[in-house]
Amino acid sequence: MPRAAPATVVPADSDLAAIEANPFAAVNRYFDLGATAAGIENDYRMLLKTPYREMRVEVPVRMDDGRLEVLIGYRVQHNGARGPYKGGVRYHPEADLDEIRALASIMTWKTAVVDIPFGGAKGGIQVDPKPMSQNELKQMTRRYTEHISYILGINRDIPAPDMNTNAQIMAWMMDAYGSKHGYTPGIVTGKPLELGGSPGRESATAQGVAYVLQAAAPELDFKLQDARVAIQGFGNVGSWAARILDKMGCRIVGISDIMGGIYNGDGIDVPRLLKHNADTKTVKGFKGCDELDPGDLLTCECDILIPAAVGGVIDAEVAERIKAPVVVEAANHPVTPAGDAVLERRGVIVLPDLLVNAGGVIVSYFEWVQNIQEFRWTLARVNEELERFITDAWRQVRVTSLQERLPLRIAAYMIGISRVMEATRLRGYV
Ligand code: NAD
Repeated sequence: MPRAAPATVVPADSDLAAIEANPFAAVNRYFDLGATAAGIENDYRMLLKTPYREMRVEVPVRMDDGRLEVLIGYRVQHNGARGPYKGGVRYHPEADLDEIRALASIMTWKTAVVDIPFGGAKGGIQVDPKPMSQNELKQMTRRYTEHISYILGINRDIPAPDMNTNAQIMAWMMDAYGSKHGYTPGIVTGKPLELGGSPGRESATAQGVAYVLQAAAPELDFKLQDARVAIQGFGNVGSWAARILDKMGCRIVGISDIMGGIYNGDGIDVPRLLKHNADTKTVKGFKGCDELDPGDLLTCECDILIPAAVGGVIDAEVAERIKAPVVVEAANHPVTPAGDAVLERRGVIVLPDLLVNAGGVIVSYFEWVQNIQEFRWTLARVNEELERFITDAWRQVRVTSLQERLPLRIAAYMIGISRVMEATRLRGYV
């Protein structure tokens, strides 16, 4: 259901129900805890929370049956103190302005936590793209790109894929931008290899999840070998996570997507499931597994739970029923502030989104660097550098969490906010 627009850009801190219901308010709740830990003064907090620029555009699409659909698209540039704005483009019915603001602000803190020279942005069109033809999708993407192109640029704002967008959509975005500005592969990341994409970009987010798990498991005292893993979402992030963790020796026991869920305590045959999913576009109906209601995936018997779909799915009620002792936030903001408080009280380890799913934007950074250098890296180099960046970030988050006695999430916010604040001061912005 569409959310009502808030009266102010940043909803009041005191309204707990509004904070739970509004993704931007929820992210800012975490921001406030991180800002307090970082000792940020009040007037700077408002500066850091407020998006720099928000663009709302009309996206007319002539549908194949002759109808004219007029859709609404957004691009929110949250903070550019540390470099060009960076963040994905999402096609989703719930991609309203508050969702895009929340995701844009997450990108600001995420790029800072993993210390890559970008700010934070996000874009999207409020639409269900599933029933659309390739022709309709292409038209929609080109019009959206043309309409936001005034605020894009290789040193200004560089989009990337997110939910329901992929390498093909990035290729259309690159072409639409290039038709006005000349050939500019570095204007988007997550492109096909043939157009200047990077080896390893498609698997990067899940590969980053795996590197963080490998670094965190021995320190937080949980095992990966034969660990029972449940994954919500079987798109880019979820399906690659299943593939990589299965190869690492985890046992993938549960998987869900928007259509349904499956569970097998002995372990799901992931290569066969990938084929089933390629044929049917869903995990539902995969033989040899019990059917699961998609909502029940989050509370199934497992050792590691990986939400890799939409935000806000783990609220206080769900958090009470989660059986996994470890939650790994491959999705953006899957846990609401009330859900987070419950998980903390119950002693559930939460590896936060700012760190865990940063592999995508880290390899996007490598792709941008390769486009500027006009020189392609090998997959081995991409993965080696990805592991270095994300493992270094894990170490810093872990040490800060221990030194400051903070949950990992708030330690990550504290680091990200401190770096953005320092860049703001050094640039003399205010
Ligand atoms: P995607 O569109 O490729 O896949 C999304 C998957 O989630 C699909 O399988 C879909 O069926 C499923 N899904 C949607 N709603 C669901 C629901 N209510 N219950 C169960 N399953 C549901 O998207 P993606 O690129 O894999 O992104 C997934 C999440 O990861 C998002 O939160 C995104 O912001 C985050 N993320 C993605 C990247 C990236 O590089 N793609 C990087 C960082 C974070």
